[in-house]
Amino acid sequence: MLEIKDIKETKTGIEGVMSHPSFAGHEQVVFCYDKVTGLKAIIAIHDTTLGPALGGTRMWNYATESEAINDVLRLSRGMTYKAAISGLKLGGGKAVIIGDAKTQKSPQLFRKYGQFVESLGGRYITAEDVGTSTSDMVSVRESTKHVTGLPESMGGGGDPSPVTAFGVFMGMKASALEFWGSDSVKGKKVMVQGVGHVGQNLVRMLTEEGAIVLVSDINKESVDAMVKQYGATSIAAENVYDQEIDIYAPCALGATLNTENINRLGCSVVAGAANNQLAEEVQHGQQLKEKGILWAPDFLINAGGLINVYSELHGYNREVAMEQARKIYDTTLEILRKAKKEDITTIAAAKMIAEERILAARQ
Ligand code: NAD
Repeated sequence: MLEIKDIKETKTGIEGVMSHPSFAGHEQVVFCYDKVTGLKAIIAIHDTTLGPALGGTRMWNYATESEAINDVLRLSRGMTYKAAISGLKLGGGKAVIIGDAKTQKSPQLFRKYGQFVESLGGRYITAEDVGTSTSDMVSVRESTKHVTGLPESMGGGGDPSPVTAFGVFMGMKASALEFWGSDSVKGKKVMVQGVGHVGQNLVRMLTEEGAIVLVSDINKESVDAMVKQYGATSIAAENVYDQEIDIYAPCALGATLNTENINRLGCSVVAGAANNQLAEEVQHGQQLKEKGILWAPDFLINAGGLINVYSELHGYNREVAMEQARKIYDTTLEILRKAKKEDITTIAAAKMIAEERILAARQ
């Protein structure tokens, strides 16, 4: 049951403090509404122990406000883990704008949204996410300096995908070392599902190291480009989970690791960029473990995007961001070894390490 308290009119519009059973653990959740621009947004700050809460702003046509709240609470909690496990001095936060990204965007709306971000005094730093773009962040920048994901011309980091793909590649190599005793992917059969921004960069790195690459995408042009450029083999979307392969790299959608797909999977390692790959964290983490499949935690190995925007806070430098992403290799090894030693799932091990870091900082 959602309750909104302390409703007040401020310079930016009307603000209220909401109370909801699953707010436990969140530091602050702010509902933002502006009549003139039609802005309806929720900013969730989950934890700022390690630093300001950085997380993107998602614009989505949620069916209900309750759906939007659940999403922002879940996503902001995930950002806390992602930042902590990546060793960044950042907390976890996220925001959602309720609306259709195709028809309801305007520079005024994002400027107004920026005022709300500014009103939090730097406790929350935003960036682009699903449904928002670099140009939207430029509008947000007109009202607040607490925004990242800006174009290179404005001191931003530009497209984060190469950094994300590099981090995924590092996580994949560390997983290969743990599973096969060598971190080389040469000769390994790797299925890349989704060859968009991240997937294409990953295919390039895999090919350069001599992997046998299979690709699948609902966009035929993207697949054709990979076949032509890198000699990859095209696999129909419905056959992805039935391949005899070494590594499955989900780089399209979340929740592809569900009961049915895991039963079908014929691979040893899963390492990819997609967010929230496990349909149910505990159940499917356990199912993978029982099947002997090594799963590299997604929120660690896809942290290159976060690392890239974090780098903007200190004067953007691509080499520095890449160097930070390289550390994903060591952290992945640490997690996989802890999971093996303690006979727990890799997601449990990753979360334990993240929580230990937050606790140590708190103390
Ligand atoms: P993208 O939109 O550029 O690419 C996704 C690709 O997946 C597209 O080519 C799309 O056609 C394809 N796709 C969609 N449904 C599919 C299906 N059923 N089967 C096969 N292919 C399908 O996105 P991206 O930036 O490359 O990101 C890929 C994933 O990684 C996303 O889940 C994203 O949330 C996550 N991620 C991206 C970054 C980043 O820096 N871009 C950072 C962290 C996480």
